Amino acid sequence: MKAAVISDIHANLHALDAVLGEIDAAGVDEIWCLGDVVGYGAFPDECVMALKDRCPVFLLGNHDLAALREIDIGTFSPSASASARWTRDQLGDEAMAFLRGLDGTSARRDEIGMYHASPRDPIWEYVVDSDLAEDNLSVQEERIALIGHSHIALYFTRIDEMSRVSSVLAPEGTELNLATGKWLINPGSVGQPRDGDPRAAWAELDTESLKARFHRVEYPIEQAAQAIHDAGLPPHLGDRLYKGH
Ligand code: ZN
Repeated sequence: MKAAVISDIHANLHALDAVLGEIDAAGVDEIWCLGDVVGYGAFPDECVMALKDRCPVFLLGNHDLAALREIDIGTFSPSASASARWTRDQLGDEAMAFLRGLDGTSARRDEIGMYHASPRDPIWEYVVDSDLAEDNLSVQEERIALIGHSHIALYFTRIDEMSRVSSVLAPEGTELNLATGKWLINPGSVGQPRDGDPRAAWAELDTESLKARFHRVEYPIEQAAQAIHDAGLPPHLGDRLYKGH
C-alpha cells in the first residue's frame, strides 16, 4: 500500500489544500493523519471537514484534545491557549462530533505504528534528539513508527540492538529504505513547519517496497498569515509561517 502521511495541519487550510493537491497527483491508496488538525491557524472547521472522510487513520493531537476540552490548556503557552479558546468557538457541530468520535492518539496499520507525539507518550513528548529517540525505540513494539508533534521533518534509526541511534533532518526529496533496522519517522508539519523550511511538509510511505520519501510544497503563506491576523489570533502565529520556525 502507498500511504501519504500528514501531521500538524494546525488549521492552515491553504497549506492543506496544496498538500492534498500533491497527494492526489501522487496517487496514494490512503492518507494517514497523525493529529493536530486544529490550533494556531484560522480555518479549524474547514480543515477538519476537508479531512474527515479521507483518512482511514486519524489520530488526535494535543491541540485537538484541547478543542474537545479533554486536556487542560493550563500547560499551553499563552498564544496556544488563546488559539485553543478561539478554535472551540469556530468548530461547527459536525466537525466537533467527528473529532469526538476519534479513537485516540495512537494507531497501527499494516505493521506500522503511529503516535501523535511519541511511542511512550503519544500526547506530549517532543522526540527531537537521539537520546529521546533511543528511549522510544526501546519501548516501541513496531519496527517502523510514525510520529508528529515536533513539526520537524526528520528520522531516527537504529540498525540493530548494539548500534547507536542516528538522527537526521529530512529535507525535501530525502528517501529512506526501511527494509532493515528500527525507525521513528516524522513527516514534518503541513501547516506550521518549524524546521526552517516554510513550505508545507508531508511524506509518502510504501508499505510493500518499504520506501519512504519526504515532500515539501509551496503554498500562499501570505494568505494564511493574513487570515490569522484578521481573525484576531496572536499575530506571531501568522508571522512565523514565513520563516518556518
Ligand atoms: Zn502540533
